[in-house]
Amino acid sequence: MNNISTYDFNGKRALIRVDFNVPLDKTTLAVTDDTRITAAIPTINKVLDNGGSVVLMSHLGRPDGVPQDKYSLKHIVSAVEKAVGKPVKFANDCLGTEAFKTSSDLQPGEILLLENLRFYEGEEKGSMEMAEQLAKYGDCYINDAFGTAHRAHASTAVIAKCFPNDKMFGYLIEKEIDSVDQVLNSTEKPLTAIVGGAKVSSKITIITNLLDKVDNLIIGGGMAYTFVKAMGGNIGNSLVEDDYIKTAKEIIEQAKKKGVNLLIPVDTVEADAFSNDANTKTVAIDKIDAGWMGLDIAEESISDFKKVIMDSKLILWNGPMGVFELSNFQEGTKEIALAVAAATKKGAFSLVGGGDSVAAVNMFDLADEVSHVSTGGGAMLEYLEGKTLPGIAAILEN
Ligand code: AMP
Repeated sequence: MNNISTYDFNGKRALIRVDFNVPLDKTTLAVTDDTRITAAIPTINKVLDNGGSVVLMSHLGRPDGVPQDKYSLKHIVSAVEKAVGKPVKFANDCLGTEAFKTSSDLQPGEILLLENLRFYEGEEKGSMEMAEQLAKYGDCYINDAFGTAHRAHASTAVIAKCFPNDKMFGYLIEKEIDSVDQVLNSTEKPLTAIVGGAKVSSKITIITNLLDKVDNLIIGGGMAYTFVKAMGGNIGNSLVEDDYIKTAKEIIEQAKKKGVNLLIPVDTVEADAFSNDANTKTVAIDKIDAGWMGLDIAEESISDFKKVIMDSKLILWNGPMGVFELSNFQEGTKEIALAVAAATKKGAFSLVGGGDSVAAVNMFDLADEVSHVSTGGGAMLEYLEGKTLPGIAAILEN
């Protein structure tokens, strides 16, 4: 494996897999959030500053192997040009003679962006033939797309085989891996995981895996009510997964056995409808009125959780504490986000990942006040679960 910091790009074309799967305005098709584009700039600049040229490849949306204008990467060319401060050439097809010719003719300092990789089925199927064709556009390969590192696609994992001596991670992926490793491997204590969001079922593997590592496990959001029901509480119409009550009981048992301080909310903001206009009351979480539902954690839980967070040295946060999209039920998530930011200021290392927790820190303008916000929700969770990510393994293996 090579290292981007020491690799000599002079006179070489670097083929970079980036994650430019950015949101576009439905009408104008202009980029509405360029975070993923700016996140790739350090890697792009490293190659250019070192005398190389750049071929960028990415997917956008889910065109499922069929070219469609609304998923064309041509719509993002100007946003990439703005971010990198240079003109960017565009190939209308990621395969074929135009892409081959333009990439062959690239001069040092020049950038080419290829059309959406998922316009071909071979991308998601991990086609070796497609990987071999793409490999012709570069003298070396950089994977900087953490968001798709858990997929064995042609451009993320398979292609690495074509560059046995010239493959490496980009700076973004390096930073993502370092951040998760810091949480997984650090001996600093206490380590607190905050897991929220809608369902126990989607977070069960990560919760089970974390029980062997964390000192404190805070459970919030919709999944908390399955735990409360498992303990015999009345949860009214709150979100619940009856199939997971047994699992919740096992987690409570395991936490006891392993000496993990498991924090389940003690109070909740209940509402008589899933709406910002609903009537609301704060009640004990195990005494939710019939017909009402818990949509946020309330003061006592916030205060309990904050104390633990403020004393933590390592914090991992995935999933909101309540229905933060509705302003009347965002207090819990906001207070926890503020506590994570305050603990970070005090010296803790904090990693926030997963679509909705990232949206929450952005909503409260706290993204710069935590140590790392992961760009890849699914990939981060799988890495934390201890799974081997194909996009990462492909670079590491000889
Ligand atoms: P996830 O994608 O599993 O992290 O879940 C995030 C979603 O969980 C958000 O859209 C929240 O609105 C939702 N959520 C959080 N707390 C609750 C709750 N108490 N009841 C229903 N949905 C919730």
